Amino acid sequence: MNDFDFGMRTRVAYGIGRSKRIGEDVKSLSGSRHAVLVTDPGLVKLGTAEEIVSALRAHSVEVTLFSDVQSDPTSASIDQAADVIRKSNTDCVIGLGGGSAMDVAKLAALVAGAEHPTEHYALMANPFQPKRIKTIMIPTTSGTGAEVTSTVVFSNAAKVKVWGWDYDLAPDLAVLDPALTVALPPHLTAATGLDALIHALEAVAGKRSNAMIEAVGLQAIRLISGSLLRAIEYPQDLTARGKLSIGSMLGGMAIEQGGTGIAHCMGHALGTLARIHHGRAVAVSLYRVYEWNVEGNEAIHAAIAKAMGAVPAESESSETLARAGAAFYRKLVEDSGLKLSLADDGLTAADAERLAATMASAENAPMRNNNCRYASDDELARFASLLLR
Ligand SMILES: [Zn+2]
Repeated sequence: MNDFDFGMRTRVAYGIGRSKRIGEDVKSLSGSRHAVLVTDPGLVKLGTAEEIVSALRAHSVEVTLFSDVQSDPTSASIDQAADVIRKSNTDCVIGLGGGSAMDVAKLAALVAGAEHPTEHYALMANPFQPKRIKTIMIPTTSGTGAEVTSTVVFSNAAKVKVWGWDYDLAPDLAVLDPALTVALPPHLTAATGLDALIHALEAVAGKRSNAMIEAVGLQAIRLISGSLLRAIEYPQDLTARGKLSIGSMLGGMAIEQGGTGIAHCMGHALGTLARIHHGRAVAVSLYRVYEWNVEGNEAIHAAIAKAMGAVPAESESSETLARAGAAFYRKLVEDSGLKLSLADDGLTAADAERLAATMASAENAPMRNNNCRYASDDELARFASLLLR
């Protein structure tokens, strides 16, 4: 068992309708009566942004709205948000939305309190000044776990995806309100929910796993495996939505310490070659390699299978249990309605070589190296053709 040093930087509050108390949160956390709300145009159209603005105003908190977040944000758009935050003179930034909105809010709040633009801090090239503006995240999807992590992803001016990492990027408060996730359509519930499941699975099975990661990761797997199909079929089911909200947050805690693995290596490579939703890209990737991956560590995959509820009989060997987990996962993906073929995404068998080379690139090496089983270049080539056949 690996050593660990585990701490949660983010306070987490959960409850149906919990986001209505956001005004009290802003005042108690920052002592301020003014907040900047960072969100995307879709949530403005849906009325969710207005709900949060009203909840803030009901507690006499003034709001400045920044609603220009696009998916896969650029450093230029983060600079824009930082500018709005700086001019508003606020002590509190709220991120409302999926991974993109939360990443922009997290990073823009730090950039706003510093003197250089976003790109100065990419890939940990330079440290931030100490955090001065408090951050609160309200996720409206159940996927990335960005509400509790200290990393962000954005594209630089050369359109290359880069990471930002800093302890201070971890939000001060995450408000999980499953009522805000019921509007998520079934195909996105499937893609984001499977992404969260894979975060937990890859962190638990990964080389950096430890007892704390297993504790939060296996519970995430239990919650997500048992509620995903229900939430897809009955989007208004708040019990199922609640389990997904908590499960994806726990998945975020797991990757914060444990990192991800082969499905994320392959999924990021797919995302570099074509515009494929991140969650769908990693879910399709794991669908093709789960059986191969099991051989890296049968005992932990047996524990994962039990957490999924995929147990044929308690007395079975680790190998049988681990393979039952693979079968359970594949059926879950099929039943979720996720589209497995990538033919409509502009990728064909002719792209296999390029895809394998991207999987093997330096930017995807941390995920390849952290996986419980090391994939050789030949194996990556085989995985690429499995994805594109
Ligand atoms: Zn992911």
